[in-house]
Amino acid sequence: MDTHTEKIQWQETWTEQLKQACPKAQVLTDQAELTVYENDGLGFHRYLPDCVIIVSHADEIASILKVAKNCGFPYTVRGAGTSLSGGPVALEGGLIIHLSRLNKVLEIKPDDMYCVVEPGLVLNRLNTYLKEYGLFYPPDPSSGFASTLGGNVAENAGGIRCFRYGVTANYVLGMEVIQQDGQLVRFGGPSAQGGSAGTFHWNSLMVGSEGTLGIITKIWLKLKPIPEKVWTFLAEYKDLQSCTKVINELVHMPTPPVAIEFIDNAVVQLVENSNMAVGIDKKSWVILTEIDGPAPLVDCRVEQVKQILQSYNAIKVSAEDDDEKRLKLWKARKVAGGLMGQLSPGLMIQDAVIPRAHLQEVLQYIYDLGDELDIPVLNVFHAGDGNLHPNFLFDDRVPEEMKNIKTLSNKLIAKVIELGGTLSGEHGLGNDKSCYLDQIFSAEEIDFQMSLLRALNINDQMNPGKIIPQRSFVGCCAPHKHERKA
Ligand SMILES: Cc1cc2nc3c(=O)[nH]c(=O)nc-3n(C[C@H](O)[C@H](O)[C@H](O)COP(=O)(O)OP(=O)(O)OC[C@H]3O[C@@H](n4cnc5c(N)ncnc54)[C@H](O)[C@@H]3O)c2cc1C
Repeated sequence: MDTHTEKIQWQETWTEQLKQACPKAQVLTDQAELTVYENDGLGFHRYLPDCVIIVSHADEIASILKVAKNCGFPYTVRGAGTSLSGGPVALEGGLIIHLSRLNKVLEIKPDDMYCVVEPGLVLNRLNTYLKEYGLFYPPDPSSGFASTLGGNVAENAGGIRCFRYGVTANYVLGMEVIQQDGQLVRFGGPSAQGGSAGTFHWNSLMVGSEGTLGIITKIWLKLKPIPEKVWTFLAEYKDLQSCTKVINELVHMPTPPVAIEFIDNAVVQLVENSNMAVGIDKKSWVILTEIDGPAPLVDCRVEQVKQILQSYNAIKVSAEDDDEKRLKLWKARKVAGGLMGQLSPGLMIQDAVIPRAHLQEVLQYIYDLGDELDIPVLNVFHAGDGNLHPNFLFDDRVPEEMKNIKTLSNKLIAKVIELGGTLSGEHGLGNDKSCYLDQIFSAEEIDFQMSLLRALNINDQMNPGKIIPQRSFVGCCAPHKHERKA
């Protein structure tokens, strides 16, 4: 029997075992169906899984892991697949465990201000449910309309409001996790609001672990009261320098804004030349900022914010407290991503974080590099917390352009590290950034981190190749290990 036939037979065996172990789950093996799972939000790193299982109940997961252990194939968990670092793709083939049907709100405790959710719940849905209790869950990645809370926790997602409210890690009180051996463990819980169990902080370890330390099946999340009053400001400037100075002033306010977003001139032109135009001066660069809190306390800060925004030759400053009008001010920011996606076949959203003082220097460096390599660069990002998200437009069917994107990314990361920044602001490392890990950690430090994975992720069966590039699934009893597909 040739190796291809052997492999097919082996896959059929474990697929059949999965169906028997989880009769209510949906098992996909058809090539057309599997293609849907071959990439994440990055689009251009494609790896076809051998099989996808859409779980209908959390209890099924332990049975799936038992089959995986017995048959020896790698597996990767997937929420909504909106990751921008290659996290939920089957880098070494095997199984994708899709959790989007585990999407219930299990409990809302308004008095204690927490809720319990399943990992497949879409973030914005949670806030819809919470509204009637006057509560909200603050972390707000721009993908909130699609991304799941399990994916948010696994990536430690940030977002627009995170400058003031903090990232996902600040809101995770506890979780249930199914370990590789099928055992269910619980870390933290509602009581984590005000104390410590006097043990290791496993929650912190799990947040941002990108599906490499276990499968999160239940999450306790801290909630906040919906602010009584919100003011949104949109300020237009004639250059980048004015914007970076304004950002610096805003972050130093005694009570800083909730959000500070930067939109560069290339994005302004894109929006204003589209049918989504909102009337921003086409020559301008934009800062969007927002303050919230009790009405009297917020209203009395409006003039101070306006003064800061006007102090660097602003072309125009708009301020709104009416919800509908506020949303209009946000429109350019919200539609930018979708419009960029229409400009070229490939779109790379890079992600890094730098000490804010270097913002202008790094942005200018990226624009110059883009010009040099003939790659359009557009910037729109959460500027308050030092995040950088340059968007590179290219055609992933043209090898020369792919090469240039790699060069641009490599040079950007080298610059970020030189200035004291680090590899990811909020999108995680996945398989896109893992190659840079040895630029910030020594071999000994990487090995130290691997020791944890060696204990909790035996043979690197869970999400191989992610975060630490040396992690490759070993001990596979497949007839032949999967070739990596470009
Ligand atoms: C248009 C757009 C805007 C975005 N804006 C932001 C932003 O502002 N801020 C930000 O931080 N990110 C942003 N992202 C990136 C992305 O949405 C986040 O990383 C998000 O947290 C991923 O959630 P997901 O449900 O799609 O997870 P997936 O992409 O499916 O998975 C992400 C990782 O989490 C793991 N995982 C998923 N579920 C579980 C689980 N239950 N247990 C263990 N591991 C699990 C996966 O294995 C994978 O490694 C954006 C993406 C897009 C496409």
